[in-house]
Amino acid sequence: MSNLAPTTTAEACVSEPTSKPILDALPGRLSDLGGLPIRRLLPRSQRRLVGPWCFLDSFGPLTFSSGKPMDVAPHPHIGLQTVSWLLDGEVLHNDSLGLQGLAVPGVLNLMTAGRGIAHSEETPPRNGGRLRGVQLWVALPRASRETAPSFDQHRDLPVVELDGGQATVIMGELGSVRSPARAFSPIVGAEVVGEPARQVVVPLVREFEHALVLLGGDGQLEGRALSVDTLYYLGCGRRELVLACEGRPLRALLLGGTPFGETILMWWNFVARTADEIAAAREDWDDGRRFGAVEAYKGPRLPAPLFVARPVPRP
Ligand code: MN
Repeated sequence: MSNLAPTTTAEACVSEPTSKPILDALPGRLSDLGGLPIRRLLPRSQRRLVGPWCFLDSFGPLTFSSGKPMDVAPHPHIGLQTVSWLLDGEVLHNDSLGLQGLAVPGVLNLMTAGRGIAHSEETPPRNGGRLRGVQLWVALPRASRETAPSFDQHRDLPVVELDGGQATVIMGELGSVRSPARAFSPIVGAEVVGEPARQVVVPLVREFEHALVLLGGDGQLEGRALSVDTLYYLGCGRRELVLACEGRPLRALLLGGTPFGETILMWWNFVARTADEIAAAREDWDDGRRFGAVEAYKGPRLPAPLFVARPVPRP
């Protein structure tokens, strides 16, 4: 999936962690992705990174009886990993390595773009008529960002039994349980499920910065009722998170990692360090170099927007 808003200049994103625990609510911003309504939670002007997590879109829940609510034509990525996680429905991934993966609930689709890959994501012809999920990007650290592109599916992610609930470890480590998915910097991504009328206690790494997103159900944190599709930034310095579950069973996404110590430039579907890098990747996509073709997708690929290397002064 893409996509940042079609701004023409790159956005410099730097980590601004708070060293002490806080609870800062940032409601998702409504946008759309090729007609599919989404809520963008990262990057936002108030918060651009949580650990290495640099992008988060939430979509659905929606029902449909025909057509393809998700249909993102082939587009390129560099310098990041895409993490696709569904709560309901199906999304079919195809990429320029010739790999295909059907994302369904509980299965992680992880694409490592590294120096360059192209992919498409679409609702498959055989579907259940429902869609709900998230897509995230993880920024690759400087030393790993030119790595070879790859795509992996993980069907048997570890589940941690918690006091009052459980957590599926999507990326990185929670407690002492590690996801088999390949990560390039200290990170956690987990789906937490809480039992009704209980408190679920989630272990955290004190040095990480964290954020929480309620995906469904009811939950309270520090006496505050959580709203769905709002990014709750939690800061650093927490050893655990105590979520109260009242009413419907809670379902939440926990994100975190070591504060990312590098300034990244985000433009369109690229995570880079310099404007030259972005311009080169854009040109390579335009000219059909580097990224390869997504042969399995029927239809034209996405054109790159215009890129302006530096902000143009207002007349
Ligand atoms: Mn994409």
